[in-house]
Amino acid sequence: MIVMKFGGTSVADAAAITRTISIVEGKLAQKPVMVVSACSKVTDCLYKIISLIEEKKAEEATQVLEALKARHVGIVTDLNESFVEVGDNDEEITAKIAQICEVINDYILGKAMEACDKALIISSGEYLSSSIIAYAMNMRGIKTNWVDARRMVITDDDYLQAAPLMNQLGAKAKKVVTSSYEGHEAIITQGFIGATEKGLPSLLGRGGSDYSASLIGMAIDADRIEIWTDVDGVRSADPRIVKNTKGLHKLSYEEATEMARFGAKVLHPLTLEPAQQKNIPVYVLNSMNPTNEGTAILCRSCVFDGIKTLSYKENIRVINIYSMKMINTVGFMEKVFTTFADHKVSVDLLSSSEASITVTVEASQDVAGVIADLSKFSDVKVDRDKAQVSIIGKNLIGARGLLAAVFAATIDSKIYMISQDTTYLNLSIVVDRPEMAVVLKKIHQNIFENGNIY
Ligand code: ADP
Ligand code: ASP
Ligand code: MG
Repeated sequence: MIVMKFGGTSVADAAAITRTISIVEGKLAQKPVMVVSACSKVTDCLYKIISLIEEKKAEEATQVLEALKARHVGIVTDLNESFVEVGDNDEEITAKIAQICEVINDYILGKAMEACDKALIISSGEYLSSSIIAYAMNMRGIKTNWVDARRMVITDDDYLQAAPLMNQLGAKAKKVVTSSYEGHEAIITQGFIGATEKGLPSLLGRGGSDYSASLIGMAIDADRIEIWTDVDGVRSADPRIVKNTKGLHKLSYEEATEMARFGAKVLHPLTLEPAQQKNIPVYVLNSMNPTNEGTAILCRSCVFDGIKTLSYKENIRVINIYSMKMINTVGFMEKVFTTFADHKVSVDLLSSSEASITVTVEASQDVAGVIADLSKFSDVKVDRDKAQVSIIGKNLIGARGLLAAVFAATIDSKIYMISQDTTYLNLSIVVDRPEMAVVLKKIHQNIFENGNIY
């Protein structure tokens, strides 16, 4: 069996869905388990509806919901046209779209909304897309079974940012996939969503469909996991910012995880962990250009040393924690990091001096509580509007000229922090936020375009 995950752009409209179905059709012999995201931007709209409900703007929420419904009904209409030779029978799917939207409407009309209700609303995007694609595939003559991901991906109770319960997932997913395959040529399920042990809806966090694919792949011992997206595999940098990026044939699980953890949106940061556990190869492929060979993500020994790609985080904060008490004492670091842990704030980069510790955190994290508690035993300074650029690759320590390339690119910029991890997988610098794109482009030029690194 193979797992094929299709992201938002790969299921954005009828044309994209038709392309996606053709890709799957070519692989039926490998028994595909499709994992799909919501149609592009739909999850954002669902978050918007929740905000509007909270702001008591019911009328605006209704408008967004109506537009969402119309978009999905429109996709069905367009699909009927492209598959006209098979005939259409869309009452059932149109009713399902209406029913999913009706559930959301209840909340607009005043039903109480707890965290698990928010998860229910947001998961509608994946329910809609997967239902429509299952309908279209069957219409095309591919016997496809729609499977509810909540039967497979069991999570903890952190409804909007849930962690899967691995001991439950393995056996459940295998059983569900095997039985659902009976009498079918393909099965389709939703990425991003799961359920708690009590059966309440939960979500794996933004971009979590990649993670779902890998979790299901691990559970069913898939031969491979394919992440179909809108780029020709993993590139030497985000092509939305840098022109002339290069394609990467191979990356290691560790390199890909580091790249994603340090900001590259192409994969969810937790994606590689389950695949790596079972040594399942992960391929990043382009649904708009399916003949491109994309990127294979494999074990460490299958991959050459050297710089592979650049990542960035475009809005971070630098927190400096200063205390004279740190000098010649033990336990200060523990106190600092326990404070971060107590407030569930995760730290990216770290550097220290005799009397201070400096860390970076993503700006989206709420650090007010951490700062209040740290201030009880140290002087805390927070620098906002900073950005991080990271160079990722196996054994960076052997890449001659790397620092020269970085410093040449930052000659006109301030570097607030510089950090290299001791597994030599990443070298990161922190610069002013408005300069991030220029620095990223220059580093890319120096490393990948001018050929100064060897
Ligand atoms: P999907 O909806 O398929 O999950 P995403 O938008 O989450 O797709 O991820 C794909 C996007 O990731 C690309 O369009 C690209 O802009 C971005 N990206 C960031 N870094 C990289 C990189 N190194 N290589 C390829 N794409 C990258
Ligand atoms: N639809 C979800 C999101 O937009 C999950 C995903 O696409 O991976 O975050
Ligand atoms: Mg994604």
